[in-house]
Amino acid sequence: MAKCDVCNVREAVVYQPHYSRKLCSGCFMEDIKFRIKKQIEKYNMFDKRHKLLLGVSGGKDSFVLLDVLVELHDPSKIIALTIIEGVEGYNRDEEVERVKRYTRGYGVDSIIVSLKEEFGYRLDEIVRLALKSGIDESPCTFCGVLRRRVLNTYARMVNADRTVTAHNLDDEVQTIVINMIRGDYQRLLRGHPLAPKLSERFVHKVKPMREIYEWETALYAYIKGFTFQETECPYINLRPTLRAKIRDILYGLERNSPGALYRILMEYDEMLLDDVKKLYDRPSLPTCRLCGEATSYGRDICKTCEIFENLGVKMLR
Ligand code: SF4
Ligand code: ZN
Repeated sequence: MAKCDVCNVREAVVYQPHYSRKLCSGCFMEDIKFRIKKQIEKYNMFDKRHKLLLGVSGGKDSFVLLDVLVELHDPSKIIALTIIEGVEGYNRDEEVERVKRYTRGYGVDSIIVSLKEEFGYRLDEIVRLALKSGIDESPCTFCGVLRRRVLNTYARMVNADRTVTAHNLDDEVQTIVINMIRGDYQRLLRGHPLAPKLSERFVHKVKPMREIYEWETALYAYIKGFTFQETECPYINLRPTLRAKIRDILYGLERNSPGALYRILMEYDEMLLDDVKKLYDRPSLPTCRLCGEATSYGRDICKTCEIFENLGVKMLR
C-alpha cells in the first residue's frame, strides 16, 4: 500500500492531482483546513474581533465551511443564516432541523428565514408569476438576487462585519469565465477578494473556500460522516445555460490538465490586482429610488425591486 506523501506513515487514500500528491485521510483533512486558513489570511478576510454571518444552505459545502470556521473563529461570533427558498419537494422540514442540530452542536446561533416571509412570495410563486407574465428568466436568477439581498439585510440587522459564503473553486472559476465571456470587466473586478465594497449599504462578503475544489469538499464531508441535503432543487436543470455549459467545459479541462481551475484562479487573483486597487477611487454606488438599497452605476432601481416591478406585484419590503 502506498504511504501518504505528507506524514509518510499512514496509508494514502486520496490523490490530489493539482498538487500531484497522495494523502491519508488525516493529512487530507488538515490540508483543507490549512488552505482555508491561508486564504483567509492572504486576503485578510476577517480577524478575531469580527462578527460573521455565514450562509448555511444545508448542502455539503456550507457544513464543511462551518466545521472549519469554528476551529478558526470564536463560535459565539458566528451566526448561521439559512434561507428557505420555497420550492416544493426541495425545502423540507427535516433539512431545516438538521441545520439547526448541526449549528447548535458547534455552539453557533442560527437564523432561519424564508423568501415568503421576507418578500411575500415563495420562489415557486415567483416562477409561476414570471411564466404568466412571459418573463424569460431562470428561477436561479431570481433565487440568487433575492438570497443575496436577504443575506446582506440580515448581516446589517445582526451587526455582522462580514457575510461568509461557502463558494468553492469550481463556483468561483465558473463565475470568472462567465464574466470574461460576457465581457463584464467591472463584475470581474468586483468579484476579486480585495475589491472594496462600493456602498455603505453592503456588508463585506468573503469566500474562504474559494481555493478548494468541489470534489475536495465532498470528500471532507464524507470522511466527517456529515449527512447533508442531497435532494437537488428541481430548478437545477433550468439553471442559466451558460453556467451549465461552462461547468462542463471546465470539468473537461480539469480532467485533461489537472490543476487547471486552480491555476485560472491564481492568474485571476494576480492579473487584476492593479485595476482592483483603482476601484477604491470610485464613487459610491447609487441607491434604488424604490427601496433605498444600493444598485449598479447607471441604474435607478435595484435588481430586487426590478424583479417585483416586472412581475407586477408588490414585495413586502
Ligand atoms: Fe435557487 Fe437555482 Fe439553487 Fe434552486 S438550483 S436553490 S433555484 S439557485
Ligand atoms: Zn430597490
